[in-house]
Amino acid sequence: MITVESISDLRKIRKDLPPPVGLVPTMGYLHPGHLSLVDKAAEQCRSVVVSIYVNPTQFGPQEDFGSYPRDIPMDLELLEKHGVDLVWIPQSVEMYPPGFQTWVMVDELSSVLEGEKRPGHFKGVATIVTKLFTAVEPDKAYFGQKDAQQTLVIKRLVLDLNLPLEIIVCPTKREDDGLAMSSRNVYLNPDERKSAPVLYRALKAAEVAFNEGESDANQLRELMLTMIQSEPLATVEYVSCADVETLQELSGPINEALLSLAVRFGNTRLIDNLKLGN
Ligand code: AMP
Repeated sequence: MITVESISDLRKIRKDLPPPVGLVPTMGYLHPGHLSLVDKAAEQCRSVVVSIYVNPTQFGPQEDFGSYPRDIPMDLELLEKHGVDLVWIPQSVEMYPPGFQTWVMVDELSSVLEGEKRPGHFKGVATIVTKLFTAVEPDKAYFGQKDAQQTLVIKRLVLDLNLPLEIIVCPTKREDDGLAMSSRNVYLNPDERKSAPVLYRALKAAEVAFNEGESDANQLRELMLTMIQSEPLATVEYVSCADVETLQELSGPINEALLSLAVRFGNTRLIDNLKLGN
């Protein structure tokens, strides 16, 4: 496994990697969710590249950029064990050179849900992911369904900018009690950690209701909301039942939808989602 920092070193090594090349973009502090993406890339590609970069522009001014967990030596050990060929640890001076002013914005898809609650988040995500793609030139790139809106934003930009790669979305890895794995789970204190599986319980309860014939979007949202509000440590940011492609909120009877949630436990903000139908 080779580790590089500069774009010129990255390009030197990249050009000799046997195709197809799979890229797994991450912010590090890797857990089995990230590693499931790496394993999928290794299964489908002859070469696997992983990037580790905590991208400052996707964090709001009040968010956790400074305290985001980081452990590069641990990450490298895990990636080596999973057979990764090349790890790229970009440096901010190169990703955002002085005077930086070129952004990628995916308008409508970025204006709802996470984008509405975290203004500028997807502008940062779309820009950094485009830069990772143009530097690495992967044949395939791997993302988690855990960040459902992010996968839609990225698929959209790949289409709109005619980028020659395929986006592969991998299922959400969960702890035994259903909590979606996340680097941010380390922020939870023991009581919050006990309460956090309510996100998945609420999503599953809505899925059960849907499978038993409840198809009204408002009722499904209400059911999830009531369940989360019954958990004293949880503060709901949004509960959504939205179109799977446009992410616009649905009302009335549905036959498919993306259920998604953002919930705070103390200072920790968790998200999760589940697709209904098809
Ligand atoms: P992050 O380091 O949080 O930016 O995540 C890097 C990639 O891993 C993103 O595509 C995430 O959607 C994905 N990911 C994060 N958590 C999980 C999980 N629990 N299961 C599957 N993929 C995940």
